[in-house]
Amino acid sequence: MSQATLPRDDKCNGWYQLLDAPAPARRLNSSESADWLVIGAGFTGLAAARRVAELRPHDRVVLLEALRVGQGASGRNTGFVIDLPHKRDLEGDDLAHKQKVLSLNRAAVDDLETLVRRHRIDCGWSRAGKYQGAVGERGLQYLDHYETLLKEFDYPYRRLARDELAPILGTRHYAGAIYTANTALMQPAALVRGLGETLPGNVELYEHTPVVTLARSAGQWCATTPEGEVRATRLLLGSNIYAREFGFLKHRMLPVMTFASMTCALNDEEMALFSTAPHHFGLTPADHAGTTVRLTPDRRLIIRNQYRFVPRYHDDLAERTRIRKGHRDSFEARYPSLAHVPFEATWGGACGLSRNYTAFFGRVGDAAWMSGVHQSVGAARGTISGKLLAELATGEDSDQLADMLAISGRPAINPPEPFLSLGVKARMKQAAWASRSEM
Ligand SMILES: Cc1cc2nc3c(=O)[nH]c(=O)nc-3n(C[C@H](O)[C@H](O)[C@H](O)COP(=O)(O)OP(=O)(O)OC[C@H]3O[C@@H](n4cnc5c(N)ncnc54)[C@H](O)[C@@H]3O)c2cc1C
Repeated sequence: MSQATLPRDDKCNGWYQLLDAPAPARRLNSSESADWLVIGAGFTGLAAARRVAELRPHDRVVLLEALRVGQGASGRNTGFVIDLPHKRDLEGDDLAHKQKVLSLNRAAVDDLETLVRRHRIDCGWSRAGKYQGAVGERGLQYLDHYETLLKEFDYPYRRLARDELAPILGTRHYAGAIYTANTALMQPAALVRGLGETLPGNVELYEHTPVVTLARSAGQWCATTPEGEVRATRLLLGSNIYAREFGFLKHRMLPVMTFASMTCALNDEEMALFSTAPHHFGLTPADHAGTTVRLTPDRRLIIRNQYRFVPRYHDDLAERTRIRKGHRDSFEARYPSLAHVPFEATWGGACGLSRNYTAFFGRVGDAAWMSGVHQSVGAARGTISGKLLAELATGEDSDQLADMLAISGRPAINPPEPFLSLGVKARMKQAAWASRSEM
């Protein structure tokens, strides 16, 4: 049984730095038994733990998180909870598939909104919608294609030209965009911390408690942590890409990082660029390899772009300097009059992709279930699939679960090393080069 490579916090997450210091972590320092063990407290693990606890109110659920809640990828993203199907789920002519993905993602947005309202989670939650933005000719071609796809399944949208976009986005950089209304925007570290703080009473959350080894013996799962262990009848994996460390989907996930930088809060004069209400927005790139931009309700601009293949789940500091420089270039190209505004933080997060853009949802072993590989859109997909994973594992039956099973597939198997690293790196370089005008 090998020791897992564990998540680590680089202390760079700009969202997390904006939060108050949390209460001290409850760490596991004893030997415990539980009905359910959930590993990982991101969107997936939190939703799975919550749902299983609701369905089995007399069962004991233990949720183990290596870091503090909000320090992992779920607290590091750009805060879009997107209802629309993404990439492969949006392509093709299987309209029934697209409708299922759409209705599941919508259920995720609704579920999160209900929890935010019920527990008054202060995370800047807003149904602001999102812009899909094109900078140049390449982006406009992607936008035309996107428009065709939206029309095909009758999804309402508004197409905007440069002049209409400029007062909203505060820049004339975008040649065009498509606005869709049902995406929610939020502060991800605040949201997941809030979700972790409001779990049902029969969930015990231990933070700073990484699972170091995981084994099955005598019909039980046994997870050892640095100072304790948990024996549980059933296992739900919400550890996403790190599930590889325990041998799950080991050769089917691609560990990649993507990165974001955040400015300090803009002053009144700087905010004058954004003359049209609501004075905050989210924009994703028409060309997927382009740049995501957000203006937050607390007046910060965020730039996200670039991917790196990270077999050990982290990049090095020299690389981070290059990434920050790339963010700076993207920022100043959009906002030349804000060139004096500094970045307060630059961070990255490890996500799981697969070569065939297929997420995984289902059983991975005896009394073990996993949902992961959410292709960089895990806020919605992690939330709904985590909830439905609990339903699958408890034997519940629902239309949502049937839909989730119907849209799930098997991530493609990776070629062996060194071909994998060489291939992924070459593909990323090629995509970055081809999309440089959209960065
Ligand atoms: C910069 C950036 C921007 C992004 N923007 C968006 C966006 O706007 N919208 C969107 O939908 N998605 C976005 N994503 C992707 C999104 O963050 C992920 O898809 C999502 O976080 C996946 O959620 P998850 O719960 O499945 O996995 P994770 O968030 O990775 O959670 C897994 C958890 O498991 C824990 N863990 C792992 N191993 C162990 C262990 N051995 N023991 C205990 N705990 C363990 C980790 O610490 C982690 O907290 C972005 C990602 C990044 C990095």
